[in-house]
Amino acid sequence: MSDIPAREARVYMQAGRRLPVTLVRGKGTRVWDDGGAEYLDFVAGIAVVALGHADPALAEVIAEQARTLVTVSNLFYTQPQVALAELLVQHSALDRVFFVNSGAEANEGAIKLARKWGGLHRNGAYEIISTHNSFHGRTMGSVSATGTARYRDPFGPPLPGFVFVDFDDVGAIEAATNERTVAVLLEPIQGEGGINVPADDYLRRVRAWCDAQHLLLILDEVQTGMGRTGTLWAYEQSGAEPDIMTSAKGLGGGVPIGAVLAKEHAAMFEPGDHGNTFGGNPLATAAGLHVLRRLTEGGVLAHARARGEQLAQRLRGLEDRHAVVRGVRGRGLLRGLELHREIAPQVVAAGLGHGVLLNAVRPDVVRMMPPLTLTAEEVDAGVDRLEAALVEAEQA
Ligand SMILES: *Cc1c(COP(=O)(O)O)cnc(C)c1O
Repeated sequence: MSDIPAREARVYMQAGRRLPVTLVRGKGTRVWDDGGAEYLDFVAGIAVVALGHADPALAEVIAEQARTLVTVSNLFYTQPQVALAELLVQHSALDRVFFVNSGAEANEGAIKLARKWGGLHRNGAYEIISTHNSFHGRTMGSVSATGTARYRDPFGPPLPGFVFVDFDDVGAIEAATNERTVAVLLEPIQGEGGINVPADDYLRRVRAWCDAQHLLLILDEVQTGMGRTGTLWAYEQSGAEPDIMTSAKGLGGGVPIGAVLAKEHAAMFEPGDHGNTFGGNPLATAAGLHVLRRLTEGGVLAHARARGEQLAQRLRGLEDRHAVVRGVRGRGLLRGLELHREIAPQVVAAGLGHGVLLNAVRPDVVRMMPPLTLTAEEVDAGVDRLEAALVEAEQA
């Protein structure tokens, strides 16, 4: 066993729990630890490593950009930033882009856009309706928008102006709307909340309510976007378009980058309103440009859809064979195996011994979000290993 966990425990802030594995290398859907053990990676950086680990073309793009120009600040124009913004606009319903470095930061931008819009177009309205069990990030603004109290409670008063309603309940949004309301903020599928898929007409009905009440619809596609749910953006499957949308996770294929996108009428930033040092730097946007091209021109989306269906089908097979399995959730390659017992952490721990990396997103839900490029054989092998872990955890 390596000495990394003991060294970490002495110097690193213990803000989260880790699995007892030190990973040193990856290739495609596989990663290796410092003892040489191999794992199928169904976590993929939490829905980040869209093209798999150490993709040769992405690695070359990053290396070439690093040799050319890493960063110059946003005091100047750069080519990759504009090219990625153009491609995002071309492949979404949004008109303008602003780059940041993470999902939380993207949501900060979305909150600022909505509040400025409310100041100018809705009599100073600033309140945002969010949902219970949502996740929007850990910075003070994004955590204030997050519907999980334990993430907010230790840190004093949250940013005011957020109210929370049940997810997948249009009536609750209607009842919570008043003259202070400026926007509704939703994940198309709640990711960290447990892979909660709403009714097919939910987003369409929320969109209609926002239109009728002159509210903005903000969709947090940080986890669901970039092909994760089978289309480039999850909203494409809903029949509703957002006024503001955030992206991050898969956007850089592993390189940190986030984006806030808005339709023209909601793109409120004027010179001096907002800014950052690293956002949209040439290194991150060159990576993002390559990933987005591969998704939109390279057939990765169709592949991910097919593998997502295969994964769901294989997981439903577990439902037939194991009474502890309650159901299969999700879309595309964002899937959850729902259990009757709260043994998801034990399944994940057992998975290490069987050579598969999984995530217990809730005590009773095992989450899978592998690279969009995984092969049919890797889907089968991953589910076989998950099944072995499930049996072991049940018997423990
Ligand atoms: C992960 C996530 C975030 C936060 O992204 P970070 O890059 O960790 O700040 C925000 N919203 C959703 C839906 C996420 O899944």
